[in-house]
Amino acid sequence: MAAATNQIPVLIVGAGPAGLALAGDLGWRGVPCMLIEQGDGAIEQPKMDLVGVRTMEFCRRWGIADWVRDAPYPGDYPQDYVFLTSLNGFELGREPFPGRAFEACPAESPQKRERVPQDMFDPILKRFATSFSCVDLQYLTALLSFEEAADGVRATVRDARTGETRTITADYLVGTDGGASLVRETAGIPMSGKPALTYTTNVLFRCADFPSLHHMGRGYRFIFIGPEGTWLTIVAVNGGDRFRMSIVGTPEKVNHTEADIDAALRRAMGKDFDYEILSVMRWVRRELVADRYGNERVFIAGDAAHLMSPTGALGMNTGIQDAVDLGWKLAAVLEGWGGADLLKSYGIERRPVALRNVAASTENLGRMLATRERKPPPEVFEPGPQADAVRREYGAWFTESMRHEWFMNGFHLGYRYDDSPIVWPDGTPAPPLETQTCSQTARPGARAPHVWLSDGRSTLDLYGRGFVLLRLGAEAPSGEGIAQAAMAAGLPLQIVACDEPKVLEAYQRRLVLVRPDGHVAWRADAEPADARALIDVVRGAKARQAHLEAAS
Ligand SMILES: Cc1cc2nc3c(=O)[nH]c(=O)nc-3n(C[C@H](O)[C@H](O)[C@H](O)COP(=O)(O)OP(=O)(O)OC[C@H]3O[C@@H](n4cnc5c(N)ncnc54)[C@H](O)[C@@H]3O)c2cc1C
Repeated sequence: MAAATNQIPVLIVGAGPAGLALAGDLGWRGVPCMLIEQGDGAIEQPKMDLVGVRTMEFCRRWGIADWVRDAPYPGDYPQDYVFLTSLNGFELGREPFPGRAFEACPAESPQKRERVPQDMFDPILKRFATSFSCVDLQYLTALLSFEEAADGVRATVRDARTGETRTITADYLVGTDGGASLVRETAGIPMSGKPALTYTTNVLFRCADFPSLHHMGRGYRFIFIGPEGTWLTIVAVNGGDRFRMSIVGTPEKVNHTEADIDAALRRAMGKDFDYEILSVMRWVRRELVADRYGNERVFIAGDAAHLMSPTGALGMNTGIQDAVDLGWKLAAVLEGWGGADLLKSYGIERRPVALRNVAASTENLGRMLATRERKPPPEVFEPGPQADAVRREYGAWFTESMRHEWFMNGFHLGYRYDDSPIVWPDGTPAPPLETQTCSQTARPGARAPHVWLSDGRSTLDLYGRGFVLLRLGAEAPSGEGIAQAAMAAGLPLQIVACDEPKVLEAYQRRLVLVRPDGHVAWRADAEPADARALIDVVRGAKARQAHLEAAS
């Protein structure tokens, strides 16, 4: 590839949450990158609003958890989920949740999920990414095309202000350019799955006196069930005067008109009321995962790699996990200690997580729409004590079923890289993957468990920059062989000794090697016979299989 004056290590295309998180993670690691975005950063209609607990753990690592906590979504706004016939009709069931300021951290994490919509969260990620001088964020700059060669990528971009096109050359290109990804398409990567689950219309509207217009109280999400089953949801987007109505729709193509939108709002309220429509977004709910996550020099992450129903709040959170998995690997390769196979492990680790998450999100959608099969009995819509009993019974079934969506730590925290080529298995059987709960494990491939340390830190606070070798308990081996092998390979490694029994109890071995993304790479009670082989595997320099076969 011809030399160019503006050669950069990593070009990221698309400054949604996945691109901003990747740029921020690279900046945090001191890796120069350019992030280009065709828009100007304004968010017409926020999509995501639940920042999951694992994403909050990353924010904690990056030092920005307080920024998320201090976002203007009111901490005391109740987060109840309410199932109802209409806002002035009948309540069928309710899952009460406190305002986000009052929700406790789960036992498995030093953080908790946060209700912070995209128009509050993206600016936080932007502030984080641009706090690093090595991150160059350029709005109004669109990728037009690119070519991948053995030694880099040549991209053509257009500046919307001047209309001029220019060429950027980069060692690596990452497409975080959303569902219609040009990067994915140009890289020749198909997606597989279900291209249309529902055709949905989202309407962002303003109504300052919304809570006083009905008797359901303040809540985060209202799910409306009519004689035809679930047909509409309304969520409190900013815990104040903004709400998002979603006409859930069906797999058949439909274009909801202005009249449909008006009728839906009035039917939901159960009477006339005044509102101001701020924006309308027609979108298709999909269940799709890219067949692979990149080529040699080009990768995709976030919605470019997977598209799922929002039921479960896994979309962006899965994308941010992608960014964290890819960030340290790009850094390792650019710094020279990452092996030839390290970047290949990105898709091998992340694609199975996406396949699991898209399927779970569709299952949640199925639960929400199960009322279309098991339709409410007619009494549900009638007054009277006998009808109350029918409502209670029907509502109890729905409320219980929907808990699968509200409690998903098995997905948010429990994802693992069991079969990764850069993880060294310890011979123990894989525990079952959980869905609603997450039992922590330090088995190689898993997220290293959180344990509170006596000095007030979490074990998670030890991880992030390079590898960490934990020496647990008074009798832990020195780890000297691993340290020397790491030094010889240029792999950044810090040794941390800890003799707090609860940490050894959670990690189960005296030596535990934790990767920069906070996943366990290896664990044992003694130093490995061939420390160099271990280091070569975890940095993607040698195939694990060859070592395992040689050792057997
Ligand atoms: C109603 C709804 C609610 C949701 N709620 C949640 C939730 O609570 N939690 C959750 O985790 N997820 C949620 N999601 C999903 C979440 O919004 C997405 O997964 C997330 O926005 C994807 O982020 P991204 O950065 O990958 O892509 P996007 O947010 O789509 O960003 C892609 C960016 O790339 C830019 N771009 C595209 N092409 C180019 C180009 N050629 N050149 C330059 N720039 C380009 C675009 O302008 C865009 O800014 C929800 C989705 C919907 C629809």
